[in-house]
Amino acid sequence: MPQEPRTSFDTLSLPPATLDNLHRLGYLEMTAIQAASLPIALSGRDLIAQAKTGSGKTAAFALALLARLDARRFAVQALVLCPTRELADQVTTEVRRLARAEDNVKVVTLAGGVPLRGQTTSLGYGAHIVVGTPGRILDHLDRGNLQLEALNTLVLDEADRMLDMGFIDDIAKVARRCPAQRQTLLFSATYPEGIATLAAQYLREPVTVKVEAQH
Ligand code: ADP
Ligand code: MG
Repeated sequence: MPQEPRTSFDTLSLPPATLDNLHRLGYLEMTAIQAASLPIALSGRDLIAQAKTGSGKTAAFALALLARLDARRFAVQALVLCPTRELADQVTTEVRRLARAEDNVKVVTLAGGVPLRGQTTSLGYGAHIVVGTPGRILDHLDRGNLQLEALNTLVLDEADRMLDMGFIDDIAKVARRCPAQRQTLLFSATYPEGIATLAAQYLREPVTVKVEAQH
C-alpha cells in the first residue's frame, strides 16, 4: 500500500467539539483530498477539487459548510447538488454524522423517485442544509417550498456525473436562484471539458486542487 501524506484534522481551525466528533467517528487523519481542499474551503474561496471515488470528498465540503452554519437560524444556508438519489442519501448521512450533535442541524434530502409531499413537509419544519438532485430541487423552488435567500454555500458534488446525466440546464436554473454572494465548491472524480465550462459559469476565481490516483 502506498503511503499518503498524513495530516491531522487538528491543523485546521475547527471548533474543539468538531474535532472531538471527528475522533469519535474514527477520522484521525485527513485523506489527501481533505488535506488539500479543506484549508481553501474553510477560507471561503471557491474551489474545484478533483479526486477519485472513495477519497473522502464528502467531508471535504461538509466540514466547510458546517463550519459556517448558524444552527440558530432556521433557513437553508447550504445546498448540495448530487447526480442520484443514492448519492444524495449518502451525502445526507455523512453530513449528519459530521454535524455536531448538540447543534441540532437539520438536513433535508430532496431527490426524485419519492413523493413530493413528505419532502414539502420536511421543508416546512425548517432545514439548514438541503442535499438533492437538481431536478427535484428545482421542482421545490418552483413550487415555493424552498427559499435560498440565506444560502451561503453551493456544492456541486460528483459534477462529472451530473454533466453525464444531462443536468446542465437544471444546475444552471438552480444556480441562478442562489445569491450571487456565496461560496461555490465543485467536486469531481474526473475533469472532462464540461467541468471547466461549468466552473467558469458558477465559480468565482476558484482554486483548483487535484489528487492524483495512487498506483
Ligand atoms: P468520495 O466522495 O470521494 O467518493 P466519501 O466522501 O464517500 O468519498 O468517503 C469514502 C469513505 O471514507 C466514507 O465511508 C467516509 O466515511 C470515509 N472517510 C472520509 N474521510 C475519512 C477520514 N478522514 N478518515 C477515515 N475515514 C474517512
Ligand atoms: Mg462523493
